[in-house]
Amino acid sequence: MHLSDHSLSQLDEVYIRTLDEEPLRGLSLRLLEDLKEARERLGQNPTNSSRPPSSQAPWDRPSASREAPSDDETPHLEADTDQPEATDSSVEEPSARPEAGDSKGEAAKPEPPKRKPGKQPGAPGCGRTQVFQAHETLHHRPDTCAACGEPWFPDVPSVAYAGFQSMDLVWGSAEQPGLHLHITDHRYHDRLCDCGHHTRARPGVGLVEDPRLDPVALSEWRLVGPGLASLIVALHLRFRMSYRRICEFLHDWLGLSLSVGTLKNTLHEAAAASAPLEQALIEAVVASDLLHVDETSWPQGSELLWLWVFTSATVTLFVVAKRGREILDRLLPDFAGWLMSDGWTAYRHVPQRLRCWAHLTRKAQGLIESYDREAQAFGHQVQDAFDTLIGAIHAARDGPPVDLPTRHAALLKKLHAACVRLLGHRHAKTRALAVELWNDWEAIFRVLDNPQWPITNNAAEQALRHWVIARRIMMGTRNEAGSRTLTLLASVIETCRQRGHRPWTYLASVIAERRAGRSAAPLPAPMQGL
Ligand SMILES: [Zn+2]
Repeated sequence: MHLSDHSLSQLDEVYIRTLDEEPLRGLSLRLLEDLKEARERLGQNPTNSSRPPSSQAPWDRPSASREAPSDDETPHLEADTDQPEATDSSVEEPSARPEAGDSKGEAAKPEPPKRKPGKQPGAPGCGRTQVFQAHETLHHRPDTCAACGEPWFPDVPSVAYAGFQSMDLVWGSAEQPGLHLHITDHRYHDRLCDCGHHTRARPGVGLVEDPRLDPVALSEWRLVGPGLASLIVALHLRFRMSYRRICEFLHDWLGLSLSVGTLKNTLHEAAAASAPLEQALIEAVVASDLLHVDETSWPQGSELLWLWVFTSATVTLFVVAKRGREILDRLLPDFAGWLMSDGWTAYRHVPQRLRCWAHLTRKAQGLIESYDREAQAFGHQVQDAFDTLIGAIHAARDGPPVDLPTRHAALLKKLHAACVRLLGHRHAKTRALAVELWNDWEAIFRVLDNPQWPITNNAAEQALRHWVIARRIMMGTRNEAGSRTLTLLASVIETCRQRGHRPWTYLASVIAERRAGRSAAPLPAPMQGL
């Protein structure tokens, strides 16, 4: 939108009749574009738009928008009153506010139906209380008149009408490494044009397109700067610290008192900023020549879901979903590479599939340790066959090309015959392993055609291990929005790490760009040599 409510409220017939032809044309074009955008928004409703209740900026709320800039020369700075505490914390903590609710649509309800998690109505707020001496003051001034289009030079007088303080972490350079806390006072100015129109500079606002995320506003009007937001994401998701622990850390090490609500909101905002990157992650997964997939149970509210991981050499994607094959059908319909998995039936329909041998040798070891003679014998046969083949594969990787299926045809034939013989064996685990090998024979031994392929699904298991530990600390996620927050950020972090880049500077840049209403830079390409 070109014209703010503040600008629009000043426009009337009297003003328009004073304009010359050129400025009038400029204003007409801006009004036309705004009208088209407004019409499009009229067609939006909660199902096709994701503008959260909290996306309304503090200075646009009824009490603020009625406030005209002061006529006298004294700047009306909201930061100097009690007002910013209320407005700022309301932006910072939509989830902690009773009227914001956990999902869209609840905002209109007169009273919450029952006690919800988080801050309760009437409970004392724990918003921003600290005010620091700033390292710098940034003055944001409009550079052209919103109505007549007259450009202004920096020395045209202006009056600050709103302001806030932000705190951020700034990285040092390669020569002077380190981190330092940087406090900035932001001042937003109002300029009066010769045409009589007041134009206000406004903090950037980003669009949150993803309705499956928590309602959160992407805005430059934030206490927590992009670098500090990135640290909070790192502490929670990479270093697996609970929100309470992060509060303690920030207080004890940086002297910052941030509430749990502010931290949660920072995570949600970082996920909303990262959401547009998901498409590129999915495309990279689908384009993989060799993809590892695995899943582990993941509680989401009262539901038991699964945390899936899809990982290749240069991309990792996490998704929380049901355990059936729907997620594979949804994500991988165009996948043309090789899929490495365990033997679970949901993967069976994928034509180009490789099987993890680690699972099979563990099962063979189980048979060796059983008390059944025939089970022990079969366990040894499977174990010996895999030992021989693993040795051959390792030798083939370093040596000249060799036809492994032909060279080991006798061993494979014998093993296959044993499986067929034991398909109906009375010992359950023996029967199960025989059935599994017989059923999935091609996928299991396909690696013999190309010894460069992996023989275990270690890459996927490794990627999940971090979250298996985190699950114990976080106790899963509360709802779909919480799961998406986690998986979006985890995917971006893991992919950056795989590609040899520090995820945290990239994430900070994503947050900064999206807060300003711009699109984020694409995920960094893999470093040379990876
Ligand atoms: Zn003007």
